[in-house]
Amino acid sequence: MLLICYSFCFNLIFSVRFVEENITTMLETRIISNSEVLYVGGDEGDTSPGTKVLQNFQINEEGGGGLIRSWVDSMRACSPTRPKSLDSQSCWIKEHPSALKMFEEILHESEGKQIVMFLDYDGTLSPIVDDPDRAFMSKKMRNTVRKLADCFPTAIVSGRCREKVSSFVKLTELYYAGSHGMDIKGPEQGSKHKKGNQSLLCQPATEFLPVINEVYEKLVEKTKSVPGAKVENNKFCASVHFRCVEENKWSDLAHQVRSVLKNYPKLMLTQGRKVLEIRPIIKWDKGKALEFLLESLGYDNCTDVFPIYIGDDRTDEDAFKILRDKRQGLGILVSKYANETNASYSLQEPDEVMVFLERLVEWKQLRCGS
Ligand SMILES: [Mg+2]
Repeated sequence: MLLICYSFCFNLIFSVRFVEENITTMLETRIISNSEVLYVGGDEGDTSPGTKVLQNFQINEEGGGGLIRSWVDSMRACSPTRPKSLDSQSCWIKEHPSALKMFEEILHESEGKQIVMFLDYDGTLSPIVDDPDRAFMSKKMRNTVRKLADCFPTAIVSGRCREKVSSFVKLTELYYAGSHGMDIKGPEQGSKHKKGNQSLLCQPATEFLPVINEVYEKLVEKTKSVPGAKVENNKFCASVHFRCVEENKWSDLAHQVRSVLKNYPKLMLTQGRKVLEIRPIIKWDKGKALEFLLESLGYDNCTDVFPIYIGDDRTDEDAFKILRDKRQGLGILVSKYANETNASYSLQEPDEVMVFLERLVEWKQLRCGS
């Protein structure tokens, strides 16, 4: 029997109205912001409070030049390719030490608590590759994640379409949250950690499916003029990949994205590693997905649960922030270089993620005597 999350759908409807009536509040609460989340659009002549703010944005941007720069700069900041300086790098490492070096401390922190694992996919379990359709994970990593899921409840949380990310991972015993958490499904079979016999499905952005499909088609058409641009339909959101676009063409591509988005006031844009993400304006993100999954596993309001979230992208910050604010579990950012983050620890690349997961498995197996 399928469990559909009616309460979350109610929250969603409430959230959409909330957005329309309280743009200023949304800015203050980081649902939209000048630097991180930008909101475009608004019908001509519309004088509703929300649209007024948005029109002002556009007027102030003088044709959108500043806005485009802001998008591109923010996207570039998500994936630093070198340390800003040796001093800032060593300072950052002190603040966000390696989760491998701090492994014993992490185990100590989790003592007596149930570890629950949350893993991003691209750049965390698989390397970032030029063609997003070929972001395969290694057999060794799959084997490690399989063993991990045998030890702890484990969820994959990705911006990708859920079906696509599960086709990459190929493990039925995991929880999957695709489309930045807007499409959550429980294990199909084989999970020791599933609560009850009910299947779990949560899709709080269903009403946006037609508009995302429409925008996807328009983006494909508009971005054809920029060599290397790739648009991906992630079901409840869409991604415009910059990975194969020459850096001097990034602004051109961002201009094309903006020319489509300006007609869709209920969609917003966020930046990731060489990607612009187009998403519905709803109060839902990877952090909300983490909270929802913990609740579904029976760990809401528990003090004896220890969630570990590992991710490499700006969108993972929503989950890191939830954990930091709740002082519960910990976030681990996958990054070689200093990068602004709410995570507590760092790992440099997917290979280090695998070593960290293997050590967790070994520790758990030793404790259980298996
Ligand atoms: Mg990622």
